[in-house]
Amino acid sequence: MKVLVINCGSSSLKYQLFNMENQSVLAKGIVERIGLEGGMLKHQPADKAKVEISENIPNHRVAVKMMLDALTDKNHGVIGDMSEISAVGHRVVHGAEKFSGSVKITDEVMDVLKECISIAPLHNPPNIIGIEAARELLPDVPMVGVFDTAFHQTMPEYAYIYGVPYEMYKKYSIRRYGFHGTSHRYVSMRAAKFLNKPVEDLKMVTLHLGNGSSITAVKNGKSVDNSMGFTPLEGIVMGTRCGSIDPAIVAFIMEKEGITAEKVNDYLNKKCGVLGISGVSSDFRDIEEAAGKGNSRAKLALEVFAYQAKKYIGSYAAAMNGLDAIVFTGGIGENSISIRKMICDEMDYFGIKIDETKNNVRGKEADISADGSKTRILVIPTNEELMIALDTVSLI
Ligand code: AMP
Repeated sequence: MKVLVINCGSSSLKYQLFNMENQSVLAKGIVERIGLEGGMLKHQPADKAKVEISENIPNHRVAVKMMLDALTDKNHGVIGDMSEISAVGHRVVHGAEKFSGSVKITDEVMDVLKECISIAPLHNPPNIIGIEAARELLPDVPMVGVFDTAFHQTMPEYAYIYGVPYEMYKKYSIRRYGFHGTSHRYVSMRAAKFLNKPVEDLKMVTLHLGNGSSITAVKNGKSVDNSMGFTPLEGIVMGTRCGSIDPAIVAFIMEKEGITAEKVNDYLNKKCGVLGISGVSSDFRDIEEAAGKGNSRAKLALEVFAYQAKKYIGSYAAAMNGLDAIVFTGGIGENSISIRKMICDEMDYFGIKIDETKNNVRGKEADISADGSKTRILVIPTNEELMIALDTVSLI
C-alpha cells in the first residue's frame, strides 16, 4: 500500500510518498513559493537523482498537480499512475477541541475545519486549501487529517485553563491547546520501544526543539501538559518567536512603538526569540558559531534557551510526580550536542546525568545518559510524516 503525506503551508507544500509494506520513503519533495515569483518544485526520488523544476505556481491546486506529475513522471517518477496512491494523509495544525485524534476527511469534517479557522487564522487556511486541492485532483482516494493539537487533548482542565475569566474560554475558546502533538506522540512511542517498556508505565518529558520548540509532559503515554498554548507562540524562546513573556509587554510595545495588534503579533512571531536576543540569526548553527567566536549576545541567546528548557523539565517532573526519561528531538534536539549538554547540566537532583561521550551523537536514536542516571536521556529523531502515514493506514 502506498500512502502520500502532504504538509501544506501558506506558500509551500511538502510531501512524502511511503511504501507502507516496509515503511520506506519512495520519494519526497517540496513545492516552494506558491503564489509568489520564482516558484520551484524540488523532487527527490529514493533511488534516482534529485530533480528541480522552476515554474510559475499560481496556487495550491497547481502545486498539487505538479507534485502528482513528478510522482508519476516517466523519468523521475516512482509510480506508474495515480491509482497506485491508496490514501493521502494531511497534516493539519489546529483541530481545536473538535478532534482528539486523526479523522477520515469528509464534507462534514471540512466544515468543522473551517470553523477552526477563527482560532488558527495563520495556520489552518493553507492546510484546508491543500486538502481541497488534493480532494479535487484525487477524488476517489480516501484522505485523513492528522492534527498537531490532537495528542494534547488529554490535558487535564487545570493544565489548559488560563487565568482569564472562564467566559473567555466559553465565548472564544481561549485555552491551551498545545502543538507538535504528532511529533511528541511519535517520539514518546519510539522512546518506550527503545527502553523496552510499555509507554503506559513511563513518565517522560519530550523536547521538540527546532525552529519552533515545544516541550510536553507525557504521563503513561498521554500528554498532560505542553509548553505551547492558545497558539504556537507560547512556551520557550524559539528561533524567531518570543515564547512566554509578561503579557503586559505586548500593550507596552504597542503603545511605545505605535503599532497595531496585527503588527505586534507579527513582531512577536517573526522578530523575537533567539534572533532578537542574539541579533545574529534564528538558526542555532549560526548562533553557536557566533558564540564560539566570543559574541556575547549569541552566548546569551543560547543560555536563555537552555535555561527555559531546563525549567520546563523541572516543572513537568513536579507535575507528573516523577520522571523516567527525557527525550530530545527536532533539528536542535537531534543535532546540537552543546544545547543538550547545557540543558542537562546540573540536574542531578532530578536524577539527570548526561554522558559527554555518548552525547556526541547526531540524528540517530541513542541513550546519552551516564551510568547511574536515574532518568534516561534519549535522542529520538522525529518522523511526523511516518506517524501521519501510519494513522492514515489505520483509519482507512
Ligand atoms: P527544525 O525546525 O526541526 O527543522 O530545526 C531547525 C533548527 O535546527 C535550526 O535552528 C537549526 O539551526 C537547528 N540545527 C540543525 N542542525 C543542527 C546542528 N548540527 N547543530 C545545531 N543546530 C542544528
